[in-house]
Amino acid sequence: MIDISHSYRKALAGEALTFHEALALWNDAPLAELMAAADAVRRRLHPGDTVTWQIDRNVNITNVCVSGCKFCSFHCRPADKERAYITTLDEYRAKIREMQALGGEQLLLQGGLHPKLDLTWYETLFSTLKSEFPNIKLHALGPPEIAHIARISGLGQDADGYRTVLERLMKAGLDSLPGAGAEILDNEIRKHISPGKCSADTWLEVMRAAHKLGLYTSATMMYGHVEQPEHRILHLLKIRDLQALKPEKAPGFLAFIAWPYQGRGTALEKEEGLSGGANTAEFLRMIALSRLVLNNIPNIQASWLTTGLAAGQMALHGGANDMGSIMIEENVVSATDFEGRTTIDASRMQQAIRDAGFTPALRNQRYELL
Ligand code: SF4
Repeated sequence: MIDISHSYRKALAGEALTFHEALALWNDAPLAELMAAADAVRRRLHPGDTVTWQIDRNVNITNVCVSGCKFCSFHCRPADKERAYITTLDEYRAKIREMQALGGEQLLLQGGLHPKLDLTWYETLFSTLKSEFPNIKLHALGPPEIAHIARISGLGQDADGYRTVLERLMKAGLDSLPGAGAEILDNEIRKHISPGKCSADTWLEVMRAAHKLGLYTSATMMYGHVEQPEHRILHLLKIRDLQALKPEKAPGFLAFIAWPYQGRGTALEKEEGLSGGANTAEFLRMIALSRLVLNNIPNIQASWLTTGLAAGQMALHGGANDMGSIMIEENVVSATDFEGRTTIDASRMQQAIRDAGFTPALRNQRYELL
């Protein structure tokens, strides 16, 4: 029998919870108590009432993707001539100017896994954007894309191959690597929901290579589909274990971002009836548990995109210290039948943070206050 009071004390002291301790908290802890414990940990790590937020723009490089994730309504197959696109340089230029006019400095560039766009193509894209807009930051791709680019560029599907891709992209202008495509880090679950995406082991291997190169990274989780609570806990422990292996001076994972699966209109809903959707209590429980388990990751984001801003505000009282980005553009969740808003403006973001009882502070990708 696990004594959950003892688990709270361990977490407050910064000690690592075991799998069984974390599972007992998930199953048995009253939500208010779990949130209060997570809030205490957050206040130890981030004293004061500051809540950070960011301005960036999410641009999709292409919607062509061979991964076939069953939760994604955004992608199309390479043969789909009507829908397929690759963002053009002129489109990037217009989007960057618009972002800069709103005070943003970072592009969040994400896939699909296009079967023809290799490492040289990405090097050209990144170096061209950086030469025209030297002040922007590129927070780009993610482990599945790095593994895919290594494969179609004839580089090894191993640590050497991933390191080569990352080194060359860094030289071309990559500033940081998002933790995209983690979903649930379990090979069987990944085969089920995203059959063409890299394995959990590969995701971790790419991140290990990124940490060794000193790249700033984040870790994510998408939950609430076919997994069980045990998978979520194991996911958190894999992230924590990898962070423990990073070189001492490397930043590693700066943040953890978990969001509930939003499945309306997706293949996973049509084929298996899994529509997901936001359950605020479960969302708050997940944020609080993340704060208690991830004792070596500094920031927990209140990823409110699919749960709504009010749930994000509540999460700030239960372990989260960051509200993420205003998302000038968002295409992936919007491609499902989700009916909520996925973007807000800067003043609404700041007001939401104030209304929750905190002081908003604009940050960059390195979580430095601006
Ligand atoms: S989630 Fe990403 S990798 Fe999966 S199908 Fe959609 S675009 Fe492709």
